[in-house]
Amino acid sequence: MRKRHFMVFQALLIVWLNTAAAIEAGSKPNILLILTDDHGYADVGFSKYASEDIQTPNLDKLAKNGVIFESAYVAHPFCGPSRAALMTGRYPHKIGSQFNLPAEGSDLGIDVNEQYISKTLQGAGYFTGAIGKWHLGHAPEFHPNARGFDEYYGFLGGGHRYFPEQYQPIYENLKKNGVQNINEYLKPLEYNGKEVRETEYITDALSREAVNFFNKAKDTDKPFFLYLAYNAPHSPLEATKEDLKRFSHIKDKKRRIYSAMVYAVDRGIARIVETLKANDQFEDTMIVFLSDNGGKLSLGGVNKPLKEGKGSAHEGGHRVPMMVHWPKAVKPGQTYTHPITAIDLYPTFVSLAGAKIPEDKILDGVDFSPFINTDISARPGKSVFVMRHRGGAHDVSVRRDQFKAVRTVKTKKWQLFDVTTDLGEKEDLSKKYPQLLEDMVNDMAYWSWTNVQPQWFHIHKEGDAWRKDAMPRFGETFTLEN
Ligand code: CA
Repeated sequence: MRKRHFMVFQALLIVWLNTAAAIEAGSKPNILLILTDDHGYADVGFSKYASEDIQTPNLDKLAKNGVIFESAYVAHPFCGPSRAALMTGRYPHKIGSQFNLPAEGSDLGIDVNEQYISKTLQGAGYFTGAIGKWHLGHAPEFHPNARGFDEYYGFLGGGHRYFPEQYQPIYENLKKNGVQNINEYLKPLEYNGKEVRETEYITDALSREAVNFFNKAKDTDKPFFLYLAYNAPHSPLEATKEDLKRFSHIKDKKRRIYSAMVYAVDRGIARIVETLKANDQFEDTMIVFLSDNGGKLSLGGVNKPLKEGKGSAHEGGHRVPMMVHWPKAVKPGQTYTHPITAIDLYPTFVSLAGAKIPEDKILDGVDFSPFINTDISARPGKSVFVMRHRGGAHDVSVRRDQFKAVRTVKTKKWQLFDVTTDLGEKEDLSKKYPQLLEDMVNDMAYWSWTNVQPQWFHIHKEGDAWRKDAMPRFGETFTLEN
């Protein structure tokens, strides 16, 4: 016991030293949050599990000079809820955003009382921007400019076609024929609420706008926060001829296009780094890179050695590639092995920016800034939850320290894995550690008491099933019958 006390003391001392020495609280670094879409765990060159087909030399260089997070999670295994969590610092289940918003024609969006990180940083004196995919509501009160972003360039829906010369004529034709409900993947992009006529491949357009934003930020005397949400490599699978040439050796067509799309993002990273350096912003910019959920296996994504992919409560659904680069405060060459989750970013940014949150604002994550130059857990004994509603049941998982408890509609029973050694979730330890499993399931059962009903469903069929099955019916989910 005495030894344990000493170890805790030692850990706290290291954390304190790191906080004091490397990261000045409230020094207001620039923050660049780069999010890719449906980008697989193995689909970055900096991953120790990197798949051979993928080339991300610029991201790899940043990762090598910063921290690679091997055990980073997002709050949900698909787009909308994952992004809502990133912006609000809440589990989507606490704010009714467990489903994607309906694709078209709704006035729904994330509760305006949940203050976004952008608004919080704006209040702390930041120049703020969002670029790319929004997916958090179309109506004026949910627009990025209304949620704390000074600047917005992108598209408000859940995705977009990539080639203007292809989607624009289709859009114009539909418009000419009086079609009012045009697919959001075809609509013009916008800049601060005004339609723009884009001419570049969308990934390149978003990188270009990031460069423009850094140049604007330079002319303010403020630190900046940029949320750069690439839709790549989300479907539709569309890559430039030039990028495709580089991957002509890949036989599988989808994988070939997907790899080229990831490469296009990486070309953008080169432009971003170049601009930050030229503007003298690079040293004090914290670059956080991650994906919004796991790679979609049927569309070219690879999450190996993780099990399954986008949408799953197994690791492949919600454990994502992630890295942080920040020359001024983060030591190069690090690997962080402990679990963290995307909802930890909000309190971390608040802490680093010396920002204030409204008194009644609840945050579900932890500030990991004191741990960033260590390999000490920022959330010892604290669970990371994932819950996906699926038909008349739920796929659920709890990650706590090295263990993960998981129950899906397919297995219909709780299993336990040590995901530090068994990333593929193959060896069920539930019989070996029944008490631990019970404790973790109880953790999640308690967490579920404060979940709220979904505020929307992305399609009527989903809502019909939810009501017909008298959901949520957590009783079944949190019963241990092993
Ligand atoms: Ca996604």
